[in-house]
Amino acid sequence: MDYWSALEVYKEMLLLYLEEGRRLVNSHCAHLEPWQIIGVSVITTVGVVWIKSFLFQQESLVSRIKKRCFRLLRKIPFVGATIQRQLSKALDDMSVSLCTLKEGMSYTKVLPSKGLSENQVTDKIREYETLNEVKWEKGCVSGAVYWGDESLTKLLVKVYGDFAWSNPLHPDIFPGVRKMEAEVVRMSCALFHGGPSSCGTVTSGGTESILMACKAYRDMAYERGVKYPEIVAPVSVHAAFDKAAHYFGMKLVHIPLDKKSMKVDVKAMRRAIGRNTAMLVCSAPQFPHGIMDPIEEVAKLAERYNIPLHVDACLGGFLIVFMAKAGYTLAPFDFRLKGVTSISADTHKYGYAPKGSSVILYSDRKYRQYQYFVAPDWQGGIYASPSVAGSRPGGIIAACWATMMYMGENGYVDATRKIISTARRIRTGIGKVKGIFVFGEPEVSVVAIGSDVFDVFRLSNALTSKGWNLNTLQYPSSIHICCTVLHTQAGVAERFINDVKEQVAIIMKNPKEKTTGMGAIYGMAQSIPDRSLVTEISRGFLDCLYSTEVPESSTSHMNGNGKAQ
Ligand SMILES: *Cc1c(COP(=O)(O)O)cnc(C)c1O
Repeated sequence: MDYWSALEVYKEMLLLYLEEGRRLVNSHCAHLEPWQIIGVSVITTVGVVWIKSFLFQQESLVSRIKKRCFRLLRKIPFVGATIQRQLSKALDDMSVSLCTLKEGMSYTKVLPSKGLSENQVTDKIREYETLNEVKWEKGCVSGAVYWGDESLTKLLVKVYGDFAWSNPLHPDIFPGVRKMEAEVVRMSCALFHGGPSSCGTVTSGGTESILMACKAYRDMAYERGVKYPEIVAPVSVHAAFDKAAHYFGMKLVHIPLDKKSMKVDVKAMRRAIGRNTAMLVCSAPQFPHGIMDPIEEVAKLAERYNIPLHVDACLGGFLIVFMAKAGYTLAPFDFRLKGVTSISADTHKYGYAPKGSSVILYSDRKYRQYQYFVAPDWQGGIYASPSVAGSRPGGIIAACWATMMYMGENGYVDATRKIISTARRIRTGIGKVKGIFVFGEPEVSVVAIGSDVFDVFRLSNALTSKGWNLNTLQYPSSIHICCTVLHTQAGVAERFINDVKEQVAIIMKNPKEKTTGMGAIYGMAQSIPDRSLVTEISRGFLDCLYSTEVPESSTSHMNGNGKAQ
């Protein structure tokens, strides 16, 4: 039998079945009136659509049910009131610890009726400076300030002054800033081995760089007809991806880590890839434990499934590109891998530029197109803008450019060598202390500490009392130190290792003792099953930041919390 006659037979059979089906349905409906048939059809259709939209929403059914239950729980009279009381107390404590002023200080709440003289303004500024109590210059703070070199500061103040009024939104008026931004992008592309069509933009920081990549890939997914684009990323990825998902109506699919190496589980990542996947993400390195994700393997996945891969090098970007020259080998992480389509790297972290600058880079111009925004019909003129902001601070871009020029490759390689050797020294030193462990094998500047023997937040408290300001992490409980140039000063790493040794020895005398103070709060915060409570407290925290009221119990609590050293 040839192909066509086989097809004929199938056609005959299909028609037979259709005829049979038609007869069956008609005979079933023979006793019904037309309005009944129409009515049932409409109700069934509406019902199916409703059930589908109830079951399949951006937020999963389980998560919605959980939220509903907790909301009901808080409606129960006694329970609700108790929770509310606890919340209020937590918020009051927070406002006391954050918003307490020094003796004799007050808030300015209205404009001075007559402008102050230059001297009066600088006098006032001194008053605000006295509020600083953490001596970050000494290298006791994790991350935060990555260098703050004095001669660079002097240069930057001058450069900022020269470009204070410039705005890259008007390249015709400020051509110098346009050239600087283009050069910052080009130099960065070169560092990450971008090809001739690699490109990018300068943004206000890591978060904006990440937002822009997610927005670009979301729009590419929309173009393919995907309704709910998904970001497939390790759980260790920065919260800016949660923010991007939230802002841009995407879904963040979290992939677990390998428990030992703290690298993303590539097999689980492959299983999570589906029709809706708009992008894959790796970190180089991730913030919590400072671990480089297996970018080579994920880049292969990205190539195989033809999905964009973003490498978040916001934290370590300006370290990892200099590590080879500083004498430390790393597996490839940049545009040398074909699957890597974009990279975010913060000039305002290890680029040592002042806060407010970062770069988002793409392997090819076709991706950057999707980042741009154009309003061709605006009454104010055709409006085209590369990133989130409209007007942008030319002074900050100039300062970023000046920092890169001032540092040069040799400056960056030197700083990188010092930072990595310090971090390795801390990693080795901490790794030898009984009772605690280092997460995975951190290759860059962050060393995260955990404990199987005692609550590691007790160590956090103890180190705070010794003047250290570290990061506290959750799921699992841990703390980390992010080494900057400030930690490479003589004696800092040794003092840190010794303080850890000493405090762990004290804790190990009584490993099961209860955690107190801030440590207890971190522990509690991650054990609260109702995450909406944590969200509420956190919103209260943000409210506190804008408070211009002196909290009532402030005098009695002055410096009462562990953080104010
Ligand atoms: C700091 C950081 C970001 C976000 O950068 P911001 O400049 O704070 O917006 C993103 N990813 C990682 C890994 C980071 O460490």
